[in-house]
Amino acid sequence: MSLVDCRDLLVPRASHPEEGEARFGTVTLVGAGPGDPDLLTVKAARALANASLVLYDHLVSPAVLALLPADAERIYVGKESSRHTLSQTSIIALMLRLAQAGRSMLRLKGGDGYIFGRGGEEAQALAAAGVPFQVIPGLTAAQGASASTGIPLTHRDHACALVLATGHLRDNNGLDMDWPMLARPRQTVVLYMGVNNLPEIVRQLQAHGLSGQTPAALVEKATLPEERCITGTLDDLPALALRHQVRPPALIMIGEVVSLRQQLVPSASVACGAVGVASLVAN
Ligand code: SAH
Repeated sequence: MSLVDCRDLLVPRASHPEEGEARFGTVTLVGAGPGDPDLLTVKAARALANASLVLYDHLVSPAVLALLPADAERIYVGKESSRHTLSQTSIIALMLRLAQAGRSMLRLKGGDGYIFGRGGEEAQALAAAGVPFQVIPGLTAAQGASASTGIPLTHRDHACALVLATGHLRDNNGLDMDWPMLARPRQTVVLYMGVNNLPEIVRQLQAHGLSGQTPAALVEKATLPEERCITGTLDDLPALALRHQVRPPALIMIGEVVSLRQQLVPSASVACGAVGVASLVAN
């Protein structure tokens, strides 16, 4: 559905509310996980199966959207960092207008809405406007990538802390990150939205003391059929990214745990997903 065609959706559906009766629609903020629909939570899959109106982002995979009822109204609100279909302000304004017109909706986001998903900003706006909402978590990309590539995020021998950070800053004002914290040893760092800034990230981490020999990986389209995992060391990561033409969505994973992939790479012969999520939520 095109965004300019959304006006019809704003026609109030609540049937003549009594005076004082709440007539707002509700918003369910749903984390759609990293892509593989079998990684949805059961609660998210149920919410999808019952949705009538959905606002979704570009990271929500077609396989997840396929779980929506055929007649659910879908509004693509986009939001790739470089190519916003709607600004965040306009997305929030649209959600509020729909809810205030009595329409209940799913707000579907890739991964987990509260992890680099701006779900917090949307929830704040809903709360401020008195629109009832609930939040259903999703697996964040780091979790999906960890399992699908065989890179544990923590391990008692290698990493006792996990840092999820963004490698892309608001308004592209340069990378103002806590480099001394990110360069600490015995931790795993997973950077979201960092591929385009990889040379600067690697330079800063090394300048702040992290060894260039630290194992590191790039994971593109984790959990999707096109997933690629490229491993090397911190030193050679920018060259690897160039050579393999790594494109978003991709994660940068840095830390000794990356070396465990040699032992733990999932066996392609193990059939997973024998029971599809649709059958799990059929009742
Ligand atoms: N809320 C999301 C993150 C959104 S920020 C979550 O919890 O996962 C967008 C960034 O997430 C992308 O630039 C990329 O770094 C990462 N990402 C999301 N899905 C991914 C996937 N399937 N594979 C690799 N990285 C992914």
